[in-house]
Amino acid sequence: MSAAGPDYYALLGVSRDATPDEIKKAYRKLARELHPDVNPDLKSQERFKIITAAYEVLSDPEKRQMFDLGGDPLGSTGGFPGSTQGFDFGDIMDAFFGGGGGQRGPRTRSRRGQDAMIRMQIDLAAAVFGATRDITVDTAARCATCDGSGTALDSEAVTCVMCKGRGEIQQVQRSFLGQVMTSRPCPTCQGFGSTIPHPCHECAGDGRVRTRRTITIKVPPGVDTGTRIQLSGEGEVGPNGGPAGDLYIEVMVQPHQVFERQGDELHCALTLPMTAAALGTTVTFDTLDGEQEIDVRPGTQPGSILTLRGLGATRLRGGGRGDLYIHLDVSIPTKLDEAQIMLLKQLADLRSEDVVRVGVDGADGGGGLFTRLKDAFSPR
Ligand SMILES: [Zn+2]
Ligand SMILES: [Zn+2]
Repeated sequence: MSAAGPDYYALLGVSRDATPDEIKKAYRKLARELHPDVNPDLKSQERFKIITAAYEVLSDPEKRQMFDLGGDPLGSTGGFPGSTQGFDFGDIMDAFFGGGGGQRGPRTRSRRGQDAMIRMQIDLAAAVFGATRDITVDTAARCATCDGSGTALDSEAVTCVMCKGRGEIQQVQRSFLGQVMTSRPCPTCQGFGSTIPHPCHECAGDGRVRTRRTITIKVPPGVDTGTRIQLSGEGEVGPNGGPAGDLYIEVMVQPHQVFERQGDELHCALTLPMTAAALGTTVTFDTLDGEQEIDVRPGTQPGSILTLRGLGATRLRGGGRGDLYIHLDVSIPTKLDEAQIMLLKQLADLRSEDVVRVGVDGADGGGGLFTRLKDAFSPR
């Protein structure tokens, strides 16, 4: 009858005397075909909005009557069909698709809990090889007294008298566009649609209490400072029986006295006496994997690097291990006694090194880059 507007009956394909059930069925069928999750194309979305508006009107006895009498129950802002003003899109979506369609209607008390993050310090060996650690966390856990409902024993939440369970208060306002229906969360129930007259004394109606508990964490091999380990469902429990959030463990690897890590490489410095560097030697060296004997070749220069394959840090992804690099330095003796001076002078004579030439080949010195030196020299 509303000559200017759309015919809602025709849109849903039902007769003017269709029962509420027939209207519901017709809408449900169309909505399944046109739901944006199934048909993301714009044309289907537009049609979905239109049939949803039609259902909004015809499913509500008051609005249907208004429409039958030639009025436009959707507030006639002129924006139809694109305008969503004034109709409970979310409510309808919730009724048919189990929520998630919009923010309208009463909101549920139970929500997912917050994620939590804690930092954990481990040493380098634990980062390289992995470890198991117990940590104590202080999070919200489900209240055992009310089992998360927030209501005192033998009582339950009751429908809010102010909004009659809708969770929102609707108002028709006149504006320069005409009548506009607005809604705001119900102040009495904070939008929940229900109130708790007798809250649980243990959790004051929140459904959860703070608890301290110990959990065992498996640290995978290869973690580094900044790596986050996600523990699903170990965060704080949501209010009123909501699922728990996740717990993130952020790893901090303590600096090591000897090794410095760069990605999957480990670096360290080793200082050799001048004579050992010249003559060559075997050194017993403490790696994270235990003692290793390393060969220092005769004539080793300061700044040269020894590589121990596969003794570096573990790769977090893909497995395997990087290499361990030993940066060699050579120490020049500073305190010489008479006999040593004589010997060195003899050596210099033999090598015709008594006259120093400028600009001969020599290493650039090396070292310096690694400040934590280890004097691990133990000649055999
Ligand atoms: Zn409780
Ligand atoms: Zn209310």
